[in-house]
Amino acid sequence: MQNLEKYPQLVSVFQDIENIIGKDSYDMWLRPAEIDFAGNVLTIFLPNQFWGNTIHERYEHTIKDAFLKHLGITVEMVYQISKQETPTVTSAQDVILANPEQNTLGKINPFASRLSSSHTFENFIESPSNRFAYKAAQAVSHKLGARENNPLVIYSSPGLGKTHLLHAIGNQILKDNPSAKVLYMSGEEFVSEYIEALQNKDPESFRRKYRTLDCFLMDDIQFVSGKEQCTIEFFNTFNALFESKKQIVLSSDRTPQQLEWNERLSSRLLSGITTEIKRPNLETRIAILRQKRDSINFDIGDDVLAFIAEGVQTNVRELEGSLFRLVAYCSAHGVIPSIAIAKEVLADFLVSTNNLFINVNSIKKIVGKHFNIKMEDFNSKRKTQSIAWPRQIAMFLTNELTDLSLPEIGREFNRDHTTVIHARDTVKEKISNDPFFAAEINQIILDIKAVDNK
Ligand code: ADP
Ligand code: MG
Repeated sequence: MQNLEKYPQLVSVFQDIENIIGKDSYDMWLRPAEIDFAGNVLTIFLPNQFWGNTIHERYEHTIKDAFLKHLGITVEMVYQISKQETPTVTSAQDVILANPEQNTLGKINPFASRLSSSHTFENFIESPSNRFAYKAAQAVSHKLGARENNPLVIYSSPGLGKTHLLHAIGNQILKDNPSAKVLYMSGEEFVSEYIEALQNKDPESFRRKYRTLDCFLMDDIQFVSGKEQCTIEFFNTFNALFESKKQIVLSSDRTPQQLEWNERLSSRLLSGITTEIKRPNLETRIAILRQKRDSINFDIGDDVLAFIAEGVQTNVRELEGSLFRLVAYCSAHGVIPSIAIAKEVLADFLVSTNNLFINVNSIKKIVGKHFNIKMEDFNSKRKTQSIAWPRQIAMFLTNELTDLSLPEIGREFNRDHTTVIHARDTVKEKISNDPFFAAEINQIILDIKAVDNK
């Protein structure tokens, strides 16, 4: 929330909300908004109705829970459209503006460019795991719409820098040419806005707006795939831009082959550059932590950073999250960060060295025992809930506790990578919504570790 400093009692509440809904969603929907908090009423000022609806539908529940948990109150939420803020903006489609500093609204408008200025090429650490994506992104930003670079498709599992690179491209383009028309948008927003345009019986204006762009940055296109109408609309938008040689950059948490597009779109998607970002190695993780430390200017030793980098291997988002958690703890308690403190504060995030020995079979064995299903059921085609659910849990745990990649996990369970992603997300969501289930999973993890320690 933009003016959160006015309400110090709400800092931890919103911190918690950010942790639950994820930084990307928070940055997109909540961070730019202003609030007013008096009595039990939280007023959120927003640029348009669409914004309010989104928060209401997706996040109100989480916000209310967090207020109850931290402040013990049942908060009443009011959404107010702030007229003076963005008088011409009626929906996110209208925000195809150039450089925010120069936009016609006269002041920096966080809703306008949709680009986060904090994600640039300069603060992206280049490494063997992302080098090709990084170079391709730079090439694109310097030479828009060149046949060989169009479209640029970047894919990876979550938290490895796709969104960062998309913003970096947009920021670079605007730096070189402040009047360029750049739009950053997530697949999820594309879908909601398209549906909104259909409801308003105005798909034409929706189309026109996209098609005037110089560069369209669309994040997380997996949200569009599988939704037929939206896929068609996306295909048309894509073609219109592509044929007029406008730059298109897409990101996805699946490979382009795994997206459910029709063949023509798939082959077009693959006609430019397709590049994967892999998990960073230890040296890169240390370099990233150093850079984050320097950017927040907090005194924390290299030994502690190396310790975190060893322990957090999943992705960059968790790596950053761990650093910030440690910094928050140390500043709140007035202590200097040390390995011992990091061990304690980050206990839930760190991979213990035991994990190196955890293998899929012990996960299947323990989960099977817990839910009373047989080893072979994990790989069978049976879909009854009493088997499918433990299988999803086992896939989730394999992803959490081993170093296997998503396709490798898929093979261990006789499934494909998308099924693993779905299992992982479903179980994760239940863990965050259901504390009893979270405790059950914790117990299973302890049992797995106990077996593997023998
Ligand atoms: P994705 O979109 O792939 O899920 P993000 O781009 O949101 O991942 O990255 C998660 C976080 O990690 C962001 O805060 C981003 O700035 C940071 N990050 C990822 N890769 C790097 C990198 N190579 N250098 C610096 N920061 C990075
Ligand atoms: Mg992202």
